[in-house]
Amino acid sequence: MKLRNIEINNKIGEEVTLFGWVNSRRDMGKIAFIDLRDRSGIVQVVLVPSELNEESQAIIKDIRPEFVLEITGVVNERGEKQKNPNIPIGNVELLAKSVKILSQSETPPFEIDNEDRQAGEELRLKYRYLDLRHERMTRNMQFRSDAMLFIRNYLHEQNFIEMHTPILSKSTPEGARDYLVPSRKFPGKFFALPQSPQQYKQMLMVAGMERYFQIAPCFRDEDARADRSPGEFYQVDMEMSFVSQDDIMELAEDMFTKLVKTLLPEKELTFDKWPRITYAEAMEKYGSDKPDLRKDKNNPNELAFCWIVDFPLFTEQTEDDYFHGAGDKWAPSHHMFTAPREEDIPLLDTDPGKVRGLQHDMVLNGVEAGGGSIRIHSPELQEKIFNLIGFTEEDKKEFEHMLTAFKYGVPPHGGIAPGFDRLVSLLMGESSIREVIAFPLTSDARDLMVEAPSIVSDEQLNAVGIEIKKT
Ligand code: ASP
Repeated sequence: MKLRNIEINNKIGEEVTLFGWVNSRRDMGKIAFIDLRDRSGIVQVVLVPSELNEESQAIIKDIRPEFVLEITGVVNERGEKQKNPNIPIGNVELLAKSVKILSQSETPPFEIDNEDRQAGEELRLKYRYLDLRHERMTRNMQFRSDAMLFIRNYLHEQNFIEMHTPILSKSTPEGARDYLVPSRKFPGKFFALPQSPQQYKQMLMVAGMERYFQIAPCFRDEDARADRSPGEFYQVDMEMSFVSQDDIMELAEDMFTKLVKTLLPEKELTFDKWPRITYAEAMEKYGSDKPDLRKDKNNPNELAFCWIVDFPLFTEQTEDDYFHGAGDKWAPSHHMFTAPREEDIPLLDTDPGKVRGLQHDMVLNGVEAGGGSIRIHSPELQEKIFNLIGFTEEDKKEFEHMLTAFKYGVPPHGGIAPGFDRLVSLLMGESSIREVIAFPLTSDARDLMVEAPSIVSDEQLNAVGIEIKKT
């Protein structure tokens, strides 16, 4: 097994073999220094010709940045003046005995060792495998992985079961456009990629799973916004049976507080107990349902979480709403499965605009980090909501499986789905969520590395019964 660079910190005096990329090289007369990078950190390698075997001496002059090397040498403590406590491998260096070039590199299209002179985003995404070599990007990917593991462990300890729901699925009403996948077996019919596992997770509650979670890929064909990635993103999708709204908020609050305290001890939480603010109060006091409650907005380490509750169940429909039917007035504020507050149910018949929903939004530093709700679990109430948002009998048929399932003993249930990429980017202090996704799409939804979307062959189109319209 390869020794990780960082592991030489406690191997002073030993001979070791390291593998990695040339981050940079410096020539000082006869002696050369190579900064050898692997995922764990950068080691300073000292190349003194008299210490090297003959073959190695001959190739030293050829070595350039991003070559992949195998270096055997002795770990030495650095002189007191050369020690650098600010880097992970700052007290030791490797005196090379033999150097082997495992692969060569052309000059990269941008500098890897210089974060300050970062290339434009298009170039970075085209050569993402090089961009990810940057220390900052590697750190972001490592934190993403650590956060994922923390969440998994936490939820497993709380008796959640981790399950996968289908990717080839059916249109889900989260309010965006679907990505469609044509069916070959049933020409003219389509799968939709899930905008979220909403309906499946509710079905898992009917199935008696009681506590489910999944770090779930979600697909939404919508235009990019600063805090959204077009195309696909991940949610920490959770659903629980026999819970109150308080239970859901307490669980999420405890999990993310512990995550921050464990993984990012340098961060400062503005509130130990996250404030719960009603939608009405937030709008009146802050003019926003995503208030930024940081005490010092210039402090990069401050994290101000809060909850927003008591949203109106409906908003007035606009032309852009996914739900509109002729002359329909109401669109769900969250989604159509959110339960109204018990005491507001009578208002559904008289003044639907006044009904408050059991929705909870998790807000961090002025950004919506996730939303959820207590769900409707009565088929009659669900049908009433369908009617209010203008569903025809045909529309309702699309959700018949839910209305049917609800007839067979459905537990009261609810959940939440914090946006995983979004939280990771906020916690890492990144302004764009693309900085914490390994291979994100561009803001206009293209993958520049593999060049997707792409044209497919006539044969493939024929197989799924599709003809492209000539424009
Ligand atoms: N499915 C919802 C969403 O994607 C989250 C939830 O209600 O649990 O926003």
